[in-house]
Amino acid sequence: MSWIKNLPSLRLLGDLLVEKGKINKEQLTEALEYQKQKGVRLGAALAELGYITESDVLEVFSQYLEMPYIQHLDRRVLDGMGADYYFISEFSIDTIVRLGVIPFKLEIETQIDQTTQIWKFHVILSDPWIYDEVSMLVDNYVKQYFASHDIGISIYDVSTEIIGYLADTSEIDSILAEISGTASVAIFDRDEEQAAGKLLFDVLTSAIAQNGTDIHISPLHSKGGLWIRTRIDGVMKDYMKDARYSANEYNTLVNRVMTMANMDTTRKREPQDGGMEFPFNRIMFDVRVAAIPTYLMSNILDGVKLQFRILYRHAQLSLSELGFLEHDLDIVKQLYSKPSGILLVTGPTSAGKTTTLNSIMRMLDLESQACYTVEDPVEYHLENAYQIPVSEKEGRSFARILRSLMRLDPDIVLLGEIRDEETALIATQMANTGHSVFSTLHTNSAWTAPQRLATMKVPLYLIVGNLNGVIAQRLVQKNCPDCTKEYKPSSKVLKTLGIPKDGTYFKGTGVIDGKTCPTCKGRGYKGRIGIFEIAPLALYEGWDKFIERPLAMRDFFLAMGFHDLMGDAFEKMKRGIISPDSLMGVLARMEAVIQGDA
Ligand SMILES: [Zn+2]
Repeated sequence: MSWIKNLPSLRLLGDLLVEKGKINKEQLTEALEYQKQKGVRLGAALAELGYITESDVLEVFSQYLEMPYIQHLDRRVLDGMGADYYFISEFSIDTIVRLGVIPFKLEIETQIDQTTQIWKFHVILSDPWIYDEVSMLVDNYVKQYFASHDIGISIYDVSTEIIGYLADTSEIDSILAEISGTASVAIFDRDEEQAAGKLLFDVLTSAIAQNGTDIHISPLHSKGGLWIRTRIDGVMKDYMKDARYSANEYNTLVNRVMTMANMDTTRKREPQDGGMEFPFNRIMFDVRVAAIPTYLMSNILDGVKLQFRILYRHAQLSLSELGFLEHDLDIVKQLYSKPSGILLVTGPTSAGKTTTLNSIMRMLDLESQACYTVEDPVEYHLENAYQIPVSEKEGRSFARILRSLMRLDPDIVLLGEIRDEETALIATQMANTGHSVFSTLHTNSAWTAPQRLATMKVPLYLIVGNLNGVIAQRLVQKNCPDCTKEYKPSSKVLKTLGIPKDGTYFKGTGVIDGKTCPTCKGRGYKGRIGIFEIAPLALYEGWDKFIERPLAMRDFFLAMGFHDLMGDAFEKMKRGIISPDSLMGVLARMEAVIQGDA
């Protein structure tokens, strides 16, 4: 509600203050005299005479005008109120400094009839009597908005409302000074190039560490400013928003990015596409960059908006690139194509479970089905899926999200991890009511997963009837394709892995023609590959009697022609893809692994 409705009823400031007991009549008379001599406002006169502070005056205003009074206004408080610096920058800085007002937020409310809109301008000021000036500022804004957006006339009937907040003059002034750049700190310092490079490095590192997909960089106003946003878990968030960056500093950043992304810096007025590679955690990420000219472009400011798209190649690997051999690919496909039931991927931490699940999700037709993911945190961005991050703090536990998902009747649910009894039960119940559920479980072997669910108090009929299959996996270093040679593993390795002495084995040597191999830099290994064991439960009957006996379950499926982790590893050793040495530490003898689960 605008304060204007109360303004006429506000009696003279002086009388009001006397009535409130803030000053006496003599002080008022003296201040009125002072006001006349110095040509200042009465509030300022009283303050300068030392009879009253500005905050006393503002408190009185606040009560009578029903305007909130912000004590201790600073940038942090302003940010907390949802300040939109882009919006602020659309006002003439000279005008708002002269008036001493901060129009910091615009809310647009469309009425139910869809033809009228209320534009609510949130404005901070210290002098409520300048309502008319603020009103004019707002009207000009609306007019200019429709003129500059090529609409000419609004399809809506726009009415405006001004929502005022009171704050001390000095605090308003210092914020305005900051925004206008008069108190600006040279953020890029002397070595602007280097600072721009560091800023880019920081934002890319931060975005990739959180599996962010996009970075948007734009100026905030015609004199510069810097606004960086990153898209994480599908949501755009401010990385930084700082109106103090000068046009020069912004231009330096644009030049730096365009150069790195192989774009032509002499053609900034045209949209351009480019790309760069960015290393993070020993993985090289592809980053696509687009430069888009904006209306803020001028002869001082390279008003180019930069958009980065980070590509997660490792997240988009096909199942065969992950290491599934021909026969397994076929089985996995049969399992993930089931219209309902649960498919689990198991293994210890960093065994690549999430990557495998993600590759499976990419094989599904998500576009024509309702797919939800519930993850902690969301690791990969998935097109055509609703991704919900788990947050215990915000009251979104796995179980709670799942319970509400039940009501939405999803086709496919990807559940980051089954980690407690409640989640295990809801997940199996969901599968039982016709949904397709994908998740991970922390067991070392595929054969122990049904037993684990049983110990988590999931009723046996739910396990037997709905568990489609279990994929257990590990990641193993791959032999370098360029320097791999046949070799004899040590007898200790042969014995520990339980593999035949007379077999043929291969290993990367790290050397080609007496020189360090350039492909693997002498390490002998290049990249990692998954080894898998698949329990294809939905394809067979009779396994349920082995739920409490995982070794017997394994033997049951081995007899059907399937393999365990060691069997898959052995096949990959025979093909020269991995070496027995690389398996050491990843796999001990399989019996020990399975026993360890029980
Ligand atoms: Zn090599």
